[in-house]
Amino acid sequence: MKDAGLTLPIKDQFVLPEGVIYLDGNSLGPLPKSVPDRVAEMVATEWGQHLITGWNVDDWMGQPLRVGNMVGRLIGAPEGSVVMGDTLSIKVYQALSAALQMRPERRVILSDNGNFPTDLYMAEGLIRQIGGGHELRVVAPEEVASAIDGTVAAVMLTEVDYRTGRKHDMNALTKAAHDAGAVMIWDLAHSAGALPVDVAASGCEFAVGCTYKYLNGGPGAPAFIYVRPDITADIAPALSGWLGHDAPFAFEQSYRPATDVERMRVGTPPVIQMTALEEALKLWDQVDMQDLRAASIALSELFIAEVEARCPDLTLASPRDPRERGSQVSFASDQGFAAMQALIARGVIGDFRAPDIMRFGFTPLYIDEDDVRRAAAILEKIMADRLWDDPAYRKANRVT
Ligand SMILES: *Cc1c(COP(=O)(O)O)cnc(C)c1O
Repeated sequence: MKDAGLTLPIKDQFVLPEGVIYLDGNSLGPLPKSVPDRVAEMVATEWGQHLITGWNVDDWMGQPLRVGNMVGRLIGAPEGSVVMGDTLSIKVYQALSAALQMRPERRVILSDNGNFPTDLYMAEGLIRQIGGGHELRVVAPEEVASAIDGTVAAVMLTEVDYRTGRKHDMNALTKAAHDAGAVMIWDLAHSAGALPVDVAASGCEFAVGCTYKYLNGGPGAPAFIYVRPDITADIAPALSGWLGHDAPFAFEQSYRPATDVERMRVGTPPVIQMTALEEALKLWDQVDMQDLRAASIALSELFIAEVEARCPDLTLASPRDPRERGSQVSFASDQGFAAMQALIARGVIGDFRAPDIMRFGFTPLYIDEDDVRRAAAILEKIMADRLWDDPAYRKANRVT
């Protein structure tokens, strides 16, 4: 394997603490170097000097759509079809409620048991709230295609499994949903910024995702929602907040949704956080998504080969075929929790997902071949010398 293609040349544009190999960008992306100055400037000048006029002179009000367009370019969404705001959980709720209203005669939401819990929880809450006798049907990921039938109102899936990295076939499943008359919602939490995505080509009605993972927007960065342009004017927003109104500053007594994707806005946007995100997203101007994918696969393949050669006790929990994976690799181990703590103590930051998954994200913007080899060597030592076997590594923190 040649070095060329393994790393994208923008590692130096991130703050990466000395001695740390950061394999957790799938949970929280690192800080781009240009972000602190931009945020400081925004706070001092836009907030500090411009005060409330910032909504106009600095166009804070246009930011959710402007930043939405930046995200849209990374997921194959046309201009004006993506808007930012709130959290991913909220965006799941909005997409799902709109989808159910598009299929009033149907009662089933179909998802899979690899989905991230909040997506399923939000579906449960929505079903209770609307009290229409809907059912959340959860099947195994490989059974989704055969479970799509004429009772399904909405298929709600996360393209890349947060635990194993297993990747669904977005185009094929969207087509299957549509063939059965169902609405398709994709959660791109582990896809946006991780691999090429083309929401428009898939034909899905809705796509949602967060920006603090592969898009490096920082903790608490706002989520995004894509609505297929031809349906936007007909969907009914469940969260009918004033900033999704067609004329918020007309202060009309009754809600009238914006004609475009801004109807998915709810309330006042987190301007400081969105400014950090907007700055972070500029990095993508330098990145070709096909190159990113090639580098991600090369790094992941190298890691799997290294770990399997060095750590016989670990079992690959991700698909072996790179075309069926996102940009993360997971290994299962009974000692997974303690071994991950031991790794973190030695500067290799991945994370652990219950019950036994050690998860490693390969984000080629700032991970290189040397990082991968060193991480595998440290993991080998931890496993071979049982360095995980230390009471300090058994203590569970609130966030794993
Ligand atoms: C990370 C993630 C979330 C997180 O939702 P928040 O509301 O941003 O906390 C939701 N869904 C999926 C699939 C995720 O991977």
